[in-house]
Amino acid sequence: MNLTLNEEQTMLKNGAHEFFKERMPVKALRELRDKDVPDGFDRALWGEMAGLGWAGILIPEQFGGADFGYKGMGQVLEEAGRCLAASPLFSSAVLAAPLLLKAGTDEHKQALLPTLASGELLIALAHDESPRHAPTRIATRVEQSADGLVLNGAKTFVVDGHVADRFIVVARSSGERDARDGLTLLLVDAKAPGVSVTRMRMVDSRNAAAVRFDKVALGADALLGKIGEGHAPLAAVLDGARAVLAAEMLGNASEAFERTLAYLKLRKQFGAVIGSFQALKHRAAHMFCELELTRSAVLGALDALDSRHADSAALCSLAKAKACDTLELVSAEAVQMHGGIGMTDAEEIGFFLKRARVAQQWLGDASFHRDRYATLKGF
Ligand SMILES: Cc1cc2nc3c(=O)[nH]c(=O)nc-3n(C[C@H](O)[C@H](O)[C@H](O)COP(=O)(O)OP(=O)(O)OC[C@H]3O[C@@H](n4cnc5c(N)ncnc54)[C@H](O)[C@@H]3O)c2cc1C
Repeated sequence: MNLTLNEEQTMLKNGAHEFFKERMPVKALRELRDKDVPDGFDRALWGEMAGLGWAGILIPEQFGGADFGYKGMGQVLEEAGRCLAASPLFSSAVLAAPLLLKAGTDEHKQALLPTLASGELLIALAHDESPRHAPTRIATRVEQSADGLVLNGAKTFVVDGHVADRFIVVARSSGERDARDGLTLLLVDAKAPGVSVTRMRMVDSRNAAAVRFDKVALGADALLGKIGEGHAPLAAVLDGARAVLAAEMLGNASEAFERTLAYLKLRKQFGAVIGSFQALKHRAAHMFCELELTRSAVLGALDALDSRHADSAALCSLAKAKACDTLELVSAEAVQMHGGIGMTDAEEIGFFLKRARVAQQWLGDASFHRDRYATLKGF
């Protein structure tokens, strides 16, 4: 397993670091929130990000992408995590594009992947149906009708759902609750009759929506892959997304830690900087060690995805579980160590905690992934 970055990945990381620091610092997220920008992100900046090739990192060159792999994508999202940058990068480039690539027909790929890579088209994955991530707990139904297919159901926490042009919907065509067989992937226009989208107010000020499908009529071209065989491509893409989300969480935790360390070296109490006190040094050292372990877990998962390692599913769960635990620790300690000012909205440190709590839940929390790791390892 290779836990280092090559020259191209290092360049990608450095470029992303500069871009987010200069163009999308945390105050950009504050502005989106305070001005209640309807899109929840800046379309001009999204165009710039796509222009840098990031929307096509997981798309092959033949479809207009850069084909830089998961390790490359992880570097960009880690840097986005440092600045809490809001954009449709995750939903379009980490969830939708790889799912189209795995499950779509040649026509789907040729028609949609180049416009996803250019950032013009936004597709969101409409998957979860309850507050807890449950990949196979799908009650949304797709049934055959005289003219084609009919879709009924409701989805929640659809990330970037309220700005999406289309959805990839996970629906059940057969099977009981929690069965893997019988899951079907469908491409649905967000403006199709019967689709209603409600923006959700998230604590991290990022985008999500509740989406309802009420007797939505679909043609055969809406099918991504075969009826009832959506689980395998979905599971693979969710694993990739968990590893990339863990990278974003690592960026969040690293930045919150560095800001806290800087504060410990600045804030004086009883004539000494508080960072000189052993009790706080020990807590900082603990965080540092957890961050190093998380970095290894994240790089291990990203590398396993690119090298198609047989253990990649378990390694992705390991990375997400570790990132959840570390971010829980670091975000809470960061606010605690900033004292009273850490609780205020004027200070940015609380924004890291708010994003942390959402990212911890999304695509499976620490308990979900510890359980999955144990199951995959046969414990
Ligand atoms: C929701 C809320 C409600 C509050 N309500 C009240 C209230 O009703 N009445 C009231 O009087 N106050 C109230 N406060 C203020 C509260 O008492 C202070 O916020 C708290 O004591 C922290 O003080 P500080 O912000 O000065 O942090 P600091 O003292 O700056 O602490 C920052 C960091 O330094 C560490 N630290 C500080 N001194 C030392 C030291 N000597 N050795 C080692 N480490 C040290 C702390 O552990 C912490 O990690 C409230 C605060 C909040 C957030």
